Amino acid sequence: MRTPLIAANWKMHKTVPEAVAMLRDLLDRLGGQAPTDRRVLICPPFTALSAVRDVLDGTGIFWGAQNMHPAEEGAFTGEISARMLTDLGCSYVIIGHSERRHIFGESDAFINQKVHAAFAHGLTPILAVGEKIEQRRAGEHEAVVEAQLAQGLEGVSAEQARTLVIAYEPVWAIGTGETATPEDAQAMHAFIRGWLAARFGDDVAQQVIIQYGGSVKPNNVDALMAQPDIDGALVGGASLHAESFARIIQFQ
Ligand code: 13P
Repeated sequence: MRTPLIAANWKMHKTVPEAVAMLRDLLDRLGGQAPTDRRVLICPPFTALSAVRDVLDGTGIFWGAQNMHPAEEGAFTGEISARMLTDLGCSYVIIGHSERRHIFGESDAFINQKVHAAFAHGLTPILAVGEKIEQRRAGEHEAVVEAQLAQGLEGVSAEQARTLVIAYEPVWAIGTGETATPEDAQAMHAFIRGWLAARFGDDVAQQVIIQYGGSVKPNNVDALMAQPDIDGALVGGASLHAESFARIIQFQ
């Protein structure tokens, strides 16, 4: 059985006081502890990680980063390494988010280096994949996602893949209020799991958490999570507010 993973990607939102206030409110709504039948993850901006750790330590809620650099250390002005993240108690790191790919021009090869660096440091990579609207209209969505998986996971072993998280985020659904239908999302998740089975074996594929992301809200999370291959959500806008994120965590 896969434990569902509900993750907040706060993107470039929240100062330290705003992050702390939101999490205190969220914890109040959850009764002070993470639920035991699902996993909750908060990915704040780097600047709030330390404060987020202080609030979440001992609650059962995990924290992680939205990005990192693959190098151990060095002259990479403005970048953050895996070791800096584990030092702050991060368990997860989002890699290859569409905003990193399309605004900052990250290639699949660079994303693959980050995946390896994350595994080397004991961080669980959340590899984000997804097609643009014109690619879906052209019927290329599966080919696009397949190429992102093949290149992003190049050289990854079956033992590593077992612990991997994949986030399917169709670019056209991010921040637009337009969600993939549960059926379309399920079809892509099943395609991804099939690809993982062919590459790493069915036993591994059955263990990989595949999250859906793109305008997940309190009013659509239940239908998405009811799909057999949707194992979690990567939530942007609706994760910024305690009320909406608590409801998403409490999906039925
Ligand atoms: P929204 O939930 O705001 O559409 O963002 C999705 C996302 O990009 C999460 O990583």
